[in-house]
Amino acid sequence: MDAHEQSVEEALLEIERKAKSCVACGLANHRTNVVFADGNPRSPLVIVGEGPGENEDLQGLPFVGRAGQLLDKALIAAGMARKHVYICNVVKCRAANLENGKWRNRPPLPDEIQACNPWLDAQLTLIQPLVVVCLGAPAASTVIQRNFRITQDRGKWFSCKWSPAAIAAFHPAYILRNGGEAYEATYGLLVQDLKAARAKVIELKKLKDQQQPILPVSETDPQMSLF
Ligand code: SF4
Repeated sequence: MDAHEQSVEEALLEIERKAKSCVACGLANHRTNVVFADGNPRSPLVIVGEGPGENEDLQGLPFVGRAGQLLDKALIAAGMARKHVYICNVVKCRAANLENGKWRNRPPLPDEIQACNPWLDAQLTLIQPLVVVCLGAPAASTVIQRNFRITQDRGKWFSCKWSPAAIAAFHPAYILRNGGEAYEATYGLLVQDLKAARAKVIELKKLKDQQQPILPVSETDPQMSLF
């Protein structure tokens, strides 16, 4: 590990330590753990999801429930593993409502996403990933562009504030809600998008190693050239 990588890891640990006592929004009231990140902070590929669910809240790690198991399976199908990527969420505490005595997950509200953005901003600014994969519309709307249309625009390339290349994919929790053929089709698209992200990292890494300029990637880039 070089000195820069070490300082990034140390800075991330320091930010995580501060985030663990964050009370900047109401989600702090009912959380068990602040779920900061998992995976490799030196990875050029960052995956951003929506927020922790029940299992994540209990374990303090992102994507460890059923959706996380599906993400792990899709990563392996795309030639990667959790240890190769850095995984985090747009909100670090579980969003849930108490209904009939039971906490039920809900999407984070815009003001909760906004309140949590400094933590995500700090993570992505420090890591400077070559590629960001956004899982689901809330992540893509936060990282790529507002009001992101996941069904129409997943699988296309964009650039974002933190990275020359960003792509959106279906959230594994959404895939799990689909049955039968729809499940197979949406899971296949998740694997396809993760494969595209891996190929884009390899492509951009080559340019970086040759000290060539890395220009922002746009959706006009031919997708087929990635495979
Ligand atoms: S969700 Fe984010 S902003 Fe809200 S309390 Fe948790 S860490 Fe702080």
